[in-house]
Amino acid sequence: MTALEIGGEALPQERKVVTEIPGPKSRELESRRTAAVATGVGSSLPAYVVAAGGGILKDADGNQIIDLGSGIAVTTAGNSNPKVVKAATEQLEAFTHTCFMVNPYESYVEVAEALNRLTPGDHEKRTVLLNSGAEAVENAVKIARAHTGRDAVVVFDHAYHGRTNLTMAMTAKAHPYKAGFGPFAGEVYRAPMSYPFRDNDAAGTKVSGEDAAKRVITMIEKQIGSEHVAAIVIEPIQGEGGFIVPAEGFLPALVEFARENGIVFVADEVQAGFARTGKMFASEWEGIVPDLITTAKGIAGGLPLSAVTGRKEIMDSVGPGRLGGTYGGNPTACAAALGAIDAFENDGLLENATHIGEIITDRLVKLQAKFPEVGDVRGRGAMVAAEFVQRDSIEPNPELVKKIVDHCAKNGVLVLSTGTFGNVLRFLPPLTISDELLNEAFDIIEEALESALA
Ligand SMILES: *Cc1c(COP(=O)(O)O)cnc(C)c1O
Repeated sequence: MTALEIGGEALPQERKVVTEIPGPKSRELESRRTAAVATGVGSSLPAYVVAAGGGILKDADGNQIIDLGSGIAVTTAGNSNPKVVKAATEQLEAFTHTCFMVNPYESYVEVAEALNRLTPGDHEKRTVLLNSGAEAVENAVKIARAHTGRDAVVVFDHAYHGRTNLTMAMTAKAHPYKAGFGPFAGEVYRAPMSYPFRDNDAAGTKVSGEDAAKRVITMIEKQIGSEHVAAIVIEPIQGEGGFIVPAEGFLPALVEFARENGIVFVADEVQAGFARTGKMFASEWEGIVPDLITTAKGIAGGLPLSAVTGRKEIMDSVGPGRLGGTYGGNPTACAAALGAIDAFENDGLLENATHIGEIITDRLVKLQAKFPEVGDVRGRGAMVAAEFVQRDSIEPNPELVKKIVDHCAKNGVLVLSTGTFGNVLRFLPPLTISDELLNEAFDIIEEALESALA
């Protein structure tokens, strides 16, 4: 299906800049916000949205902005995808909440069935539903600890797992996520990541996936003791860390090590999951079968829902009443997830992700040939990034990224920066964006580079 057939009908699929961005109405709202909302919550582009769909965000001043962010990989199935809207609306009219821990309902069970079927591996699985990505990661760790009777959790450089106390401990970056918010949960150990663009050995050759995995295994054996490790938790493609795709062989070697040592291997697919990479889950790219998998973001077309799905014997090592939460698997979010999953499976979104990824990669590779500041182009499917460096070195260039983001915002293109060094542009458009909008956005990015480097 094309963009216009999936949710774009109501909103003309064109970029339109009719005021400054943010315009007067957005600025007025921003001043109310400043007086009412805690400063700790930031916004990348304070243009207040009134409608969205296809590949467009419409703001309060009537500007139409090309969306290359999907609300951080959430509206993958399109903003207000008709299937999501219909399912959620029908559910809202039937009942809004019972609490699954008080009175159950079918849609929760259906979402669990869908996740058990769609996640990698054909072993028997079970699922628990929660509200946020961080909550899913917390629960995966709880389950892994209960199952193994061990404490230690291994995470990686550049990792992002959330903003709760345990997930802050698991997240790598101090600013803005951790600094001043400790003390953090204990028994979290950070291992070196495979980061092909920056990962050279003493002789200057790229560290292979197998060697990068050996480095992790040595660290675990020497610094923790593998018999103390409950879980290895890793994003198969790191999101906030800068869309780092580990070298081939890294993930399979870690899965094998985990299996041999009774360690629960947890894939945090909160950002990379749900069709984003052109496969339903990023783990599929190297054929790995995680023991547990955490999902959220793209799962329910914009409604808050998350899940832990995994091997029955691990999931069921936790007895009745020991997992849950008041809103976990809220009926409206479950209905929305069933609508989104229907769209992922039946509306060609996986193919769209591959196609979008090809366009973005092609445009970025052309920019790289023209501007040596584009140090690395990487990603899978519609999860693509460019890492910016100083000319003739791999020193990070966050200043250039900021200039591009600002130029894009002024010209009606929303693009998100990311990465440990703040020097990565990440592209996560809704899978309902048209080729025309995508190419127009990249014309503006190209213009931004030309003006910044002129
Ligand atoms: C966003 C994210 C989280 C946290 O999800 P929230 O819903 O914001 O709590 C966890 N892991 C990864 C990989 C993420 O990208």
